[in-house]
Amino acid sequence: MNTNELIRKDRKHLWHPFTQMQDWQVDDFPVIEKGKGCYLIDTQGRRYLDGVSSLWCNVHGHRVKELDRAIEKQLKKISHTTFLGLTHPTAIELAEKLIAIAPKGLSRVFYSDSGSEAVEIALKIAFQYWAQKGRPEKKKFARLVNAYHGDTLGAVSVGGIDLFHEIYKPLLFETFAIPSPYCYRWETTRDPEKVKNEALSAMEKVLREHHHEIAALVMEPLMQGAAGMIDQPAGYISRARELTRKYNTLLIFDEVATGFGRTGKMFAADHENVTPDILTVAKGLTGGYLPLAATLTTEEVYSAFLGRHEEFKAFFHGHTYTANPLACAVAIANLELFEKQKTLEKLQPKIQLIKKRLEDFYSLKCVGDIRQCGVMVGIELVRDKATQEPFESREKIGVRVIELARRKGAILRPLGPVIVLMPPLGMTEKELNKLLDITYESIKEVTE
Ligand SMILES: *Cc1c(COP(=O)(O)O)cnc(C)c1O
Repeated sequence: MNTNELIRKDRKHLWHPFTQMQDWQVDDFPVIEKGKGCYLIDTQGRRYLDGVSSLWCNVHGHRVKELDRAIEKQLKKISHTTFLGLTHPTAIELAEKLIAIAPKGLSRVFYSDSGSEAVEIALKIAFQYWAQKGRPEKKKFARLVNAYHGDTLGAVSVGGIDLFHEIYKPLLFETFAIPSPYCYRWETTRDPEKVKNEALSAMEKVLREHHHEIAALVMEPLMQGAAGMIDQPAGYISRARELTRKYNTLLIFDEVATGFGRTGKMFAADHENVTPDILTVAKGLTGGYLPLAATLTTEEVYSAFLGRHEEFKAFFHGHTYTANPLACAVAIANLELFEKQKTLEKLQPKIQLIKKRLEDFYSLKCVGDIRQCGVMVGIELVRDKATQEPFESREKIGVRVIELARRKGAILRPLGPVIVLMPPLGMTEKELNKLLDITYESIKEVTE
């Protein structure tokens, strides 16, 4: 099939995620056929830097021979076998490896297929934990404003991005919303220390008043991704840990985006040596190769589910493809590459390079705020820097920037007016410089 035919058939048969399909009928889009290293290659042979890691999941690049081989090797054994009543070697080996790198104290792994599912599982575990500990009234959840935890209904319930969630409100359960420490748009101050303290006071107020009915606080640690890369001041997550302990509620860290090196350490929790009661991972777990997710818990949480068969304390959850062996095999190879290639060590100068290069962006007329944590970057565009007045959504400012960047050879994806950069950890310094050049020029040409 040639490119025009592919595009025609796509427009005829497909429905794309988070996409106004009416625009899709006329918009231009590349048909990606191949990948090589940190480049995506379309059917016409055009090459694009993968500036958002194929939606935040790619780690070492595409067509990595160790990862390709791990799948080929597993294919010759078995592609899938159920995890209900049976087990298999790759799932066992991966669980051991995950526990070894996870924050200390997490000791149980429950597999699923996507980040949203990992979050659903975390919520159900927290809920059932309290019910089985004899505290069934602890059945509600606290979450941050601007949170994103996935698109299934439970995950949407604990989310807080109005644009995504308003329409589904009648289907959602109620939660306690806690303001997130969004320094750039905090009402009273922009000083991170003050914002942190005020946000934590608000968190403590909710926990103090409602802890008797709260099962868990769920949050993305260090960086709220889909909200537009909203970073949290140092000390915020450790204080969240202290407060959830003080008020006897579980703490769920959703590290679906921040996990596997994205923040510069293996997990965001590692920056402050925090161990949540429940941790969710997905995206980078397989290096961006196959869908796989996991929910990790402590032995304390796990043990609340033990009992005699007829007590029905088991965790009633499972998916057909739970612990898919191909996905587990590539996840193992992904973690092995982290060690063998010293990925995290080699990442540090790249993080510094990005930081240095981003300083220039402040001279652009419409760059209001730049937020970076490791290789997660959000560049917030505003119409007026002095007043922080945002662009209107019909101006599609982010979309225009990424469309131009695409013509210049980089795939980006905006979050409203925030231009996101999230390069694979394996991107070279030369490629990073090119990505930052393209981003800078695209923002400048569109906004000036
Ligand atoms: C992407 C994301 C999810 C959802 O993961 P899916 O695999 O897309 O379902 C959940 N939480 C966070 C923080 C995410 O960034």
